[in-house]
Amino acid sequence: ISERINADSDKPCETSDGCRIALYMNAGLSAEIELHAGACGDGIGLYRTEIPFMLRERFPSEQEQVQIYRQVLESAPTLPITMRTLDVGGDKPLPYFPINEENPFLGWRGIRLTLDHPEIFLVQIRAMLRASIGLGNLQMMLPMISSVGEVQEARRLIEQAFYEISDEIRGTDQTLIRPKLGIMLEVPSVLYLLPQLARYVDFFSVGSNDLTQYLLAVDRNNTRVASLYNAYHPAVLSALYDIVQQANKAEVPVTVCGEIAGEPGGAILLMGMGYRKLSMNAFNIRKINWLIRNVSLEESKGLLACALTAHSQDDVFRHINQYLERKG
Ligand code: PEP
Ligand code: MG
Repeated sequence: ISERINADSDKPCETSDGCRIALYMNAGLSAEIELHAGACGDGIGLYRTEIPFMLRERFPSEQEQVQIYRQVLESAPTLPITMRTLDVGGDKPLPYFPINEENPFLGWRGIRLTLDHPEIFLVQIRAMLRASIGLGNLQMMLPMISSVGEVQEARRLIEQAFYEISDEIRGTDQTLIRPKLGIMLEVPSVLYLLPQLARYVDFFSVGSNDLTQYLLAVDRNNTRVASLYNAYHPAVLSALYDIVQQANKAEVPVTVCGEIAGEPGGAILLMGMGYRKLSMNAFNIRKINWLIRNVSLEESKGLLACALTAHSQDDVFRHINQYLERKG
């Protein structure tokens, strides 16, 4: 099978009945991106900027960040690269910025922390913009959005940084393109705010890892409740289905960048729901590309219909496994 997978992996991904599905890569290190540069599919759907922050002993300076981001943007200069602003807190502590809280997952993380520290946010945004000068493939994404006000506030700071950098390069032959702005959909409140949020963003990206955690009230890293943490829970699947329908209605492009997008059963279900952009770890791209070429959109809708009426995640898995077995 792996030979068959490799033979097909460079072709653009489409279903057996001709529906194009864009596949993107999730990454956090420039080395990782360089390693897979030829096989990052249609671009980078999620670059986790907190990873280089976590590997250092202090906050990287603006100039250091410019270098990191420039390397990433240059690794695939013709493809879109979605950089998520710092998503620390929760399960991703910074050794040099300790946060002690009783409920870190419900606490000071992601956009909450960076909006409280606009100097950290502005340095990062300026570094991303500077790194993108002359390139034009940067997209920005905000993590842990739970209300419209956070997006408005972040947009204001991004505009400020954009004008600062534009001013600096005025009169030179350098060009700065305004990056597209997107938000992660991973806090359940946003499910009820999509029409409003759609007015402020260019794209959505579903963080199914955190969405599962918050929808099911199950800590994603607590082994004691690990059996309850499952993105195939019928309620999570319904939420994912609802999101794509709302996003399509609002005409806002939507990607899934949580783990479920890189899993065979998950990718097929998401396709059936109407998702056309999936972002996953590099090592899953070839496999999912191959799988999707061997599945029709009609089949994926059939599987989805069974999954959506299932009573439990075990039922969902039974349907998926039967389907995959029939496929061989
Ligand atoms: C997610 O929450 O699904 C996601 C992609 O982000 P992270 O796993 O980095 O929280
Ligand atoms: Mg997340």
